Amino acid sequence: MYEPSEHRPTEAIVDLNAIQHNIKYVMTKMNDNQMLYATVKADAYGHGAIPVAKAAIEAGAKGLLVATVDEAIELRKNGLSQIPILVLGLTDPRGIAEILHYNITITVTGIDFFEKAYKQLTSTNQVNLLDVYRLTVHLALDTGMGRIGLRSVEEVEAFASIINDFPWVNWQGVFTHFATAGGGPEAYVETQFERWRALIAAVPESVTYRHYANTAMALWHTDLMPQSDIVRLGISMYGMDPKDERHNKETATHLQPALQLISEIMHTKQVAPGESISYGAQYTTSEREWIATVPIGYADGWLRHYQTVDVLIAGEYCPVVGVINMDQMMVKIPRDLPVGTTVTLIGKDGKSENHASDIARSLNTISYEIFCNISRRVPRVYLKD
Ligand SMILES: *Cc1c(COP(=O)(O)O)cnc(C)c1O
Repeated sequence: MYEPSEHRPTEAIVDLNAIQHNIKYVMTKMNDNQMLYATVKADAYGHGAIPVAKAAIEAGAKGLLVATVDEAIELRKNGLSQIPILVLGLTDPRGIAEILHYNITITVTGIDFFEKAYKQLTSTNQVNLLDVYRLTVHLALDTGMGRIGLRSVEEVEAFASIINDFPWVNWQGVFTHFATAGGGPEAYVETQFERWRALIAAVPESVTYRHYANTAMALWHTDLMPQSDIVRLGISMYGMDPKDERHNKETATHLQPALQLISEIMHTKQVAPGESISYGAQYTTSEREWIATVPIGYADGWLRHYQTVDVLIAGEYCPVVGVINMDQMMVKIPRDLPVGTTVTLIGKDGKSENHASDIARSLNTISYEIFCNISRRVPRVYLKD
């Protein structure tokens, strides 16, 4: 990620207080036996993993969730040395030495991981690592997401009966993931929960954590949520509800958006009618128009098909004219406005707001994707009391 720069005014402003507020809001829905783990995969959904992780812990998170071992190592190397970190995706057993060394909890779907990891340690003369470290794992169960995990009681029983052959493994948790808690057929949540109950009956008592709650479950399935030992909080930390239905959902009104994406007008001009703007000359002025150039483009994550999303300038919605370029785009402004005027792509400008959920809906996607697309060229600036 680039540092904030005086050379180019495009930046993502991340309000860590909002993230802490959102975490605390969800915690009010949890009981004393539940722990909140903060999902900071994909660089904290584009918000910046390290500052977000630190703020989340301060707000009460008891663990961190990432997608890959490399994301976990990045956190370990940046001062997050003690907190549990669980990798939600599957991992190559050849990396076992680093996983042990950095004390990273991984997700497995079978004992073949342990066999391969042990072979790797033998062939690299590192078996002695197991005198010092134990490998902590959570077993994934596939109750209907169709992504990763064991699917039958027989498979879970087989896993449970063989795991004792690996005394260097600490089987700490078991989890599943709901496909429709945030949208889709409601009855499918029940189907998955039934399967979950059947599968965890085969999990020994010695396994400490059984978890399945993501944001959607935490916000909207308060009947099922209390039995998840860990609440794996993601998008709501960043102030969005998973359905991007902020006007309809009572819970969504409590969430505070954490990220603002802003830039500034860098150049303005008045052009005559009939002049074209940008690549392909796809836009032609129909009158004398004021056109501003804004230093943000698809290489920053403001993708070409976002052309339909108006940006906020001086409190007014202004249309993008012509195609979005790699590094710049042009916007039609109502009158001559000074260079340096703020352009709000995501966030509030006076009474007007470009809410990430509204942008996502208008583009037929989800706010997760809008955030994750904001590239490393956009400096992240952090606000915190
Ligand atoms: C990403 C992820 C989450 C967090 O999901 P949100 O919808 O952002 O709350 C939880 N669990 C798993 C397994 C995930 O992959």
